[in-house]
Amino acid sequence: MAVTQIQFLPFHRASIDEQDIESVVRVLRSGWLTTGSEVRQFEGAFARYVGARNAVALSSCTAALHLALAAIGLQEGDEVILPTMTFSSTSEVVLYFKARPILVDCQANSFQADPMAMERAITSRTRAIIVVHFAGIPADIETILDIARRHKLIVIEDAAHALPTRYKGKMIGTFGDITCFSFYATKTITTGEGGMMTTENAEVADRVRMLSMHGISKDAYKRYTAEGSWRYEILDVGYKYNMTDIQAALGLAQLAKSDVLRAKRDRVAGVYTAALSSLDAYETPAVPVDVQHAWHLYVLKVNPDALSISRDRVIEELKKRGIGTSVHFIPLHTHPYYQQKLGYRTGQFPHAENHFEHAISLPLFPGMTNDDTERVVEALHDIAREHRA
Ligand SMILES: *Cc1c(COP(=O)(O)O)cnc(C)c1O
Repeated sequence: MAVTQIQFLPFHRASIDEQDIESVVRVLRSGWLTTGSEVRQFEGAFARYVGARNAVALSSCTAALHLALAAIGLQEGDEVILPTMTFSSTSEVVLYFKARPILVDCQANSFQADPMAMERAITSRTRAIIVVHFAGIPADIETILDIARRHKLIVIEDAAHALPTRYKGKMIGTFGDITCFSFYATKTITTGEGGMMTTENAEVADRVRMLSMHGISKDAYKRYTAEGSWRYEILDVGYKYNMTDIQAALGLAQLAKSDVLRAKRDRVAGVYTAALSSLDAYETPAVPVDVQHAWHLYVLKVNPDALSISRDRVIEELKKRGIGTSVHFIPLHTHPYYQQKLGYRTGQFPHAENHFEHAISLPLFPGMTNDDTERVVEALHDIAREHRA
């Protein structure tokens, strides 16, 4: 039986090298595994990297978003404006407080939230706006900050995709009041699971650090060390959201490579755009001026007028050719919970629905070879040729 073995090209593969592995092993051998000096070093290095005054390492970006809302004192019945085009985390944290996520549509020509729709959504109950820098491109942050300032609203950035993202030369991490990053396994740098909050407000940072450790008084992590004491005080109802030294050691090693990893993704994205933008079957992602794109995601849009098959079929055709893909995101307002419990309905946010129906996230990770990239390009050319409308 003749079998041609094509290796499956996954949508994502983590970039872990010997340095990463040695860093983790060093911590494992050290006798101290949870929050300690590696975490403090990671926070310092991260704050310097994005140019922020304070950084707090946490167990996930979701935890960071949750504690951001806790730190601003979000109350039951408050409203928080956020895009429908995002992952569950951005919104579920609002629901933890019995507050209301107020979803808004995308811009017609981009996956970013429409600032005008955000402004129209403001009511007397609005407390904050959560901005998502979709795919690694900054949202229209200047307009959103201006709206927030005029209406005295807090701006929290969900920067899960946005490391390293620059706008007008400045790194994402200090534009809003609080910024939350993710080190989930598929993100641009990883600690397996993990997150980081940055803020210029030292009080917010202190409160978040305290809340991340059961609401126990500052420096509780020192209580098993020579400088520490067994005595501690519980100051508030806290959570178990701290990062471990095992994660932080991996994070430090990954952070040191952040720009190199971005450059590798940038090269893959460049090949995709050069090879696909001439085909009318697809719309390649535009990078706005004054932006350094983190290239967390490469989201291609299929053009229904130029193809006889749907986006779902294109995904199947790619899979048949051994190519993995994903879709970002199924808009929040189309999910059963949001429709049944919160009253959202399909048809409400047409731009987001249009983007979603035609989007495919192509494989994009630093370890992709030229052959991998060429395979994706050739497969998409084949599909466009075979299924011309
Ligand atoms: C991945 C992701 C998150 C959640 O990050 P975790 O670290 O897994 O909690 C939040 N928001 C967006 C937009 C994401 O893509």
